[in-house]
Amino acid sequence: MINKNEIYNISIESVSSDGNGVGKIDGFTVFVPQTAPGDEASVQIVKVQKSYAYAKALEIAVPSKHRRAVSCPYFEKCGGCSLMHIKYDEQLEIKKGIINNALLRIAGTDCRVGEMLGADNEYRYRNKMIFPIGQNSDGSTVCGFYRSRSHDIVPMNDCLLGSEFNGAVIDTVLSYMKKYNVSAYDEKTQRGTIRRIFTRVGKSSGEIMLVISANTEKLPKKECLTDALCSISDKIVSIILNVNTKKTNLVLGDKNKVLFGKGTITDELCGAEYEISPHSFFQINHAQTEKLYKKALEYAAPSENDTVLDIYCGIGTISLFAARKAKRVIGVEIVPEAICDAKKNAEENGIENSEFFCADAERLVPWLIERGEKPDVVILDPPRKGSDEKTLNAIACAAPKRIVYVSCNPATLARDIKFLSENGYCAEKICGVDMFPNTNHVETITLLQKRNT
Ligand code: SAH
Repeated sequence: MINKNEIYNISIESVSSDGNGVGKIDGFTVFVPQTAPGDEASVQIVKVQKSYAYAKALEIAVPSKHRRAVSCPYFEKCGGCSLMHIKYDEQLEIKKGIINNALLRIAGTDCRVGEMLGADNEYRYRNKMIFPIGQNSDGSTVCGFYRSRSHDIVPMNDCLLGSEFNGAVIDTVLSYMKKYNVSAYDEKTQRGTIRRIFTRVGKSSGEIMLVISANTEKLPKKECLTDALCSISDKIVSIILNVNTKKTNLVLGDKNKVLFGKGTITDELCGAEYEISPHSFFQINHAQTEKLYKKALEYAAPSENDTVLDIYCGIGTISLFAARKAKRVIGVEIVPEAICDAKKNAEENGIENSEFFCADAERLVPWLIERGEKPDVVILDPPRKGSDEKTLNAIACAAPKRIVYVSCNPATLARDIKFLSENGYCAEKICGVDMFPNTNHVETITLLQKRNT
């Protein structure tokens, strides 16, 4: 029996999908954040559930050979980089294990990771950052990150995963707020003005977009803010006020007002140029995205007679890449701004064999198939919650020869592979791509082939 607050010794054996070290105490599973496989630690139990417990490490008596020094001063409080204390090669092994474990437990397939595409840069790879702004208990305005598993804001002005310019942006917004007495939004009372800073940079173009999310359409002294922000870098091409008066903690509200510049940024991926709006999804690790898309296209292998259906297409990045090889590409995406970007991107890159539809995949994909579309290859790249049975069922009915499933969540991928395996497909190859070094997140690309019946 394990008791809360008691202290035990534990050997850490593995790392869970959410980045915690895992060990056993008297046969009982215990999760310990910020430990590494091979650590011998003394831990204090903080929470006991029916079949597992959480503990915090008090002392690492024998450190694992996989450990390394951490260069981020916020590591312990933030929790975002749950693997930063582990050497990079071992991080890749851990991620491979997370994928294989999901395949074994959930998918019911023999397919296992064949290849892991690691990153050349472990730091400064993120092209997008979101910094919440709020008030400290002493009433001062703070900007930084949410403390692990809470909505308290820990002040910070540099995240090692983001670009260096972010610190100057945070400092500038905080000075503007102080100088002109502009309040921070308070999640509890739902009052106050500035909610978040959102930054995005085109890694190959260098262009920067800054979005200030506020609980109002009328930002006081907005020209003083834009002038101060513009002086940070001449690469800033867009400053946007995002009006977010909603009482939810959604990152962005629906309405954008351009305060400076063109309102978008441009970036290049796999030889094509993309225009990106604030609401559009764009992969956050540029170098790894190029590897991801190349591998996805290798698996999809469209020929010049093939129609490719790209579901959850965002601004059409994979679609336009596939369009260069295929006869025709159809993209499906739910965010209207992203579809506008996709159409513009097709036009600007001179791609004439693509069509884009804005709708929920679970309604649109069955409709396309009923209407008689016969995709030869389907690519799908859903959000973390994965796809759904209506979409997957419609894909299976259309009977494409190949399905390429790009996923950022091994658990929902494995669930969807199981469904597709029961509906005529066989997972043949799976490749892991480390889009998010130092965190527990991992991307995968799976090739599913139509079974001969
Ligand atoms: N393939 C793109 C985008 C992948 S992210 C790229 O590589 O950039 C997943 C995308 O799915 C997001 O753009 C999101 O807006 C979209 N999405 C989420 N739910 C959806 C749904 N139910 N139907 C269609 N698209 C959806």
